[in-house]
Amino acid sequence: MSRIVMKFGGTSVADLERIRHAASRVRREVEAGHEVCVTVSAMAGATNRLVEQVSEAGRVYDLREYDVVVSAGEQISAGLMAVVLGEMGVQARSWLGWQIPIRTNAVHGSARIERIETEELRRRMAEGQVPVVAGFQGLDDQGRITTLGRGGTDTTAVALAAALGADRCDIYTDVSGVFTSDPRIVTKARKLERVTYEEMLEMASQGAKVLQTRSVEMAMNHQVRVQVLSSFEDEPGTLVVDEDEIVEKAIVSGITYSRDEAKITLFGVPDRPGVAASIFGPLADAAINVDMIVQNVSEDSAITGMTFTVTKADLERAVKLLAEQQQSLGYERLAHDPNVVKVSVIGVGMRSHAGVAQQMFRALAEKGINIQVISTSEIKVSVLISEDYTELALRSLHSAYGLDSE
Ligand code: ADP
Ligand code: ASP
Ligand code: MG
Repeated sequence: MSRIVMKFGGTSVADLERIRHAASRVRREVEAGHEVCVTVSAMAGATNRLVEQVSEAGRVYDLREYDVVVSAGEQISAGLMAVVLGEMGVQARSWLGWQIPIRTNAVHGSARIERIETEELRRRMAEGQVPVVAGFQGLDDQGRITTLGRGGTDTTAVALAAALGADRCDIYTDVSGVFTSDPRIVTKARKLERVTYEEMLEMASQGAKVLQTRSVEMAMNHQVRVQVLSSFEDEPGTLVVDEDEIVEKAIVSGITYSRDEAKITLFGVPDRPGVAASIFGPLADAAINVDMIVQNVSEDSAITGMTFTVTKADLERAVKLLAEQQQSLGYERLAHDPNVVKVSVIGVGMRSHAGVAQQMFRALAEKGINIQVISTSEIKVSVLISEDYTELALRSLHSAYGLDSE
């Protein structure tokens, strides 16, 4: 007998028919004698609609109220799943975040899970009942509802698996696993049988939304065995594992993209010590994250240029803040461009292989794609390019690294 956490994403619970299909998978595991805990996302599209409604209701809103509204979708799908399981003869009970409770910090809109009380869940599971936990939501120390950031039900699932000491955490979604690139754009993308925690973490944080970044972080820290698989097709998915469980390490295992980038360039910046601190300090104080940075070489050592990226959501605020401080920062001109995408190639094999970046630059050059900013880490190379070339860049790189399926 194993203890399993099963997570169903939005498309897997999009309507009653799909909920029934998902529930039949749950029943199968229960009938095989396993203890099962289920967690569900809101029905596809529901959270987006709620987010729109909050922003229509007020231009500036309290994030505590945002959380009350956007967490609502999961309440419905959890209840429906419990009803459908009951209809199928599987004992089930729904649980909202506050009822368990799933304790989080008070960073509304992107709260972190701190603790889950599992005693009651364990007791019921031992009696054969399936808890159906509403994903994405928790409770802060003021007793208010929090949400975990978009895609947060993945993190609910992994956190439940860690707290319950589950043998497996199965993430059911609308693709059959983790692919070498987004299969919706790169039709020749291949499913990975296994991917390391580290690569998955990098892929998620560089835009592959198949798993929320924090869920991978948590799985890595708590050694949770995560499997990503299709809720529609019966086939093995992708296992996220430790590096030593992979015998043949690919040099590049994934190519990702993130459209959530916007570029800012400051021209005519005085080239003196402390200038970077004076630009990025105020941005950090305003909780604006800067991702890629490049400082241009100054010809006369007096004036330079600085290019960097922020999220699209932060662009307006960042530009306003920098414009207000133009005098004290002493730059001549500011330009900004939201029409950019960050493309990254990722693989643990890069540690021991030179030339991966060079291959990327060459493949993009052959297609006439201009690189605007570059950044690297031990297992990743990222470039910022015009958003118009997203598909072309992904497909060309996928071929260039020999990742295409036949
Ligand atoms: P869910 O609603 O089940 O949580 P998501 O939409 O959050 O599903 O995540 C699944 C989607 O992630 C897929 O439909 C796919 O388009 C996208 N995706 C992006 N990159 C990858 C990748 N490398 N492998 C698999 N899916 C990917
Ligand atoms: N429903 C939430 C979202 O759309 C959480 C999730 O699906 O994981 O972001
Ligand atoms: Mg998701």
